[in-house]
Amino acid sequence: MNAWAEEIGAELLGRHVVIHNYRQGLGRTRVRRDNAPVEIEVSDTPLTSLHPHGNQILQALVLHELGHHVCDFGEPGFRTVDKRSRREGLAAMMNILMDERLERQLRSRRPEWGAYFDRLGAYAFARNEHNVPIGAYARLIEREVSEVEGAIRRGDIPGRLLQPDAGESEMRVALRDSDMLRIPGLLPTHVAFMMCFRCGFDPQSCADPRVAEAINLVPRNLKELSHAKLLPLARELANLIGARENLTQELTLLQQKVQDNPDVLGQLGEGIDRLVECNQLPGWERKDASKIRMTPPSRAQIKREVPLHVPGARF
Ligand SMILES: [Zn+2]
Repeated sequence: MNAWAEEIGAELLGRHVVIHNYRQGLGRTRVRRDNAPVEIEVSDTPLTSLHPHGNQILQALVLHELGHHVCDFGEPGFRTVDKRSRREGLAAMMNILMDERLERQLRSRRPEWGAYFDRLGAYAFARNEHNVPIGAYARLIEREVSEVEGAIRRGDIPGRLLQPDAGESEMRVALRDSDMLRIPGLLPTHVAFMMCFRCGFDPQSCADPRVAEAINLVPRNLKELSHAKLLPLARELANLIGARENLTQELTLLQQKVQDNPDVLGQLGEGIDRLVECNQLPGWERKDASKIRMTPPSRAQIKREVPLHVPGARF
């Protein structure tokens, strides 16, 4: 991976690139003005978890961090816009937009890089169905089992009814990660927005109609927009779904729900963990974006950043 990163770093930046393993589970890089090597820290969890596409996911993480150097740090106007967005409380929203913008720029440079980013997007949510006991599903949405069965049959709530497992009497329900978006009130709007904007879920399927409206606000030519033009877009998005510089409260509530409903939400919790691990949920990271890139985090910050953890989950 180091040799690959060096080669790509030389191609994109004409600079020497050094990769560090960052075990707290974030991809990070820092602004360097001198000619020193560009240092990048990425989590190696995609590899150590023996994910089938671990290597490509790691390559996507490295490319993403290099992309900040190519598409953001050196760009004229970046520093001014960066400062202003922070003053306006829009740093997290700007980060989301810059992340997507740089990936679209790199995709257009080389299609195989796009394939790595697709792997990264699919890494957080596996998109396979998981089947859960109907009683657990009913508890999550606070309805009676018989009601849930009828509602699924009518298509009022997401899921597909399955026969009980051998030796059991309780029906089961097949749920996909995208079904989670359809359950009203389950996901914080920002998380639903991220799942659609960064991981390719269908915004039309979201229980909260603002998610689709927000996705519609993002112009098709995002990758061509200057930083100065990203800022008004960040403002518009924030007006619609809130700026959410800090998602801690909402994610803590969701974490509680995941822990209370491990059968139904375990997989969702793992997906959110992976979003955090891949640095795709600005707002659950360090509040101050400059600190992400300039200084090591304080102990308190690391504590706040510990991903949602599902007991017994490994990823
Ligand atoms: Zn980024």
